Amino acid sequence: MKTGLKRSDKRKGEKELIMKDMDNIEKLKKWIEESSNIVFFGGAGVSTESGIPDFRSVDGLYNQKYDYPPETILSHTFFVNHPKEFFKFYRDKMIVHDVEPNRAHLALAKLEKEGKLKAVITQNIDGLHQAAGSRNVIELHGTIHKNHCMDCGRPYGLEAVEKAEDVPHCECGGIIKPDVVLYEEALNDHDISASINYISGCDMLIVGGTSLNVYPAAGLINYYRGKRLVLINRGETPYDERADLIIRGKIGEVLGACTGI
Ligand code: NAD
Ligand code: ZN
Repeated sequence: MKTGLKRSDKRKGEKELIMKDMDNIEKLKKWIEESSNIVFFGGAGVSTESGIPDFRSVDGLYNQKYDYPPETILSHTFFVNHPKEFFKFYRDKMIVHDVEPNRAHLALAKLEKEGKLKAVITQNIDGLHQAAGSRNVIELHGTIHKNHCMDCGRPYGLEAVEKAEDVPHCECGGIIKPDVVLYEEALNDHDISASINYISGCDMLIVGGTSLNVYPAAGLINYYRGKRLVLINRGETPYDERADLIIRGKIGEVLGACTGI
C-alpha cells in the first residue's frame, strides 16, 4: 500500500515535471518568435546527441579511465613534454568520425537563416555547427579542422593529423599543432571581443549544453544585461539562479521542438 502510494506520487511528480517542461518550451518558443536578436552560447552538451561524449556527464570523458585526467593531457605543458601521448588521446577522443549535426545544430542554423539568431558562440571544436549550415560561428576553443606547423606556420587540414602514426610533422620537420586552445593557453582576443559585443548587444541569450565550469569562456555570459537569459541543460550550472528560464532537457529535443526541426 505504502509502495503503491509512493509510486503514484512519483508518477504524479514526473507528470508535473513534464507539464512544466512543456510550459517552458512553449514560453521559449514564444520568446524566439518575438526576438530577432538572439545569441546562442554552448558547449559539449550540444554535441552529445550526435554521439560525441562531453567532459563532465557520467558517461563523459572525466569519468573514463586514463593515465592522466583529460585536462592534464589537453594542457600546453603536456603537449610540449609528451606529444606522443597527447596525440594518442587527441586522435582517440577529440577527433570525431562519422558524426552528423543533431537537432540542436540544425535548429540554430535555421534560426540564423531566418534572421533571428546573430551568432553561435561555442566552446566545441567539432565543427558541427558549420556542418549544419550555421555561418556566424565563434569557436572560442578553436577547431579540429585547422592545424598548423609550429615552425613554418604552414596550415594543414584534419587529415594531416589523422593519418600520422604518432606525432604529425610538417614537410619542414616541425610539429603540426591543432588550432585548438589547450588548457594554459589564451583565447583569441578577437573572438573574445566579438563574443562580448554579441552577448552584450543581444535581446535574448540562449545558453545550452555547457556546465559553465571552464573559464574564461563561461564568464562571457556575464556580459548579458537583458531579461531573457535561457538555460537549457541536463544538469545544474553555477548560473542557474541568474536565468530567466531554465529547461532541464535534452537540447536537441528542446530546440527541435521550438523550431519545428
Ligand atoms: P562539460 O562536459 O563541462 O558540460 C557539458 C554539460 O552539458 C553538462 O552540464 C551536461 O549536463 C550537459 N549536457 C550533456 N548533454 C546534454 C544534452 N543533450 N542536452 C542538454 N545538456 C546536456 O562541457 P563544456 O561546458 O563545454 O566544457 C568542456 C570543455 O571541453 C569545453 O572547452 C568543450 O568545448 C570541450 N569539449 C568539446 C567537445 C566537442 O567539441 N564536441 C567534446 C568534449 C569536450
Ligand atoms: Zn613547417
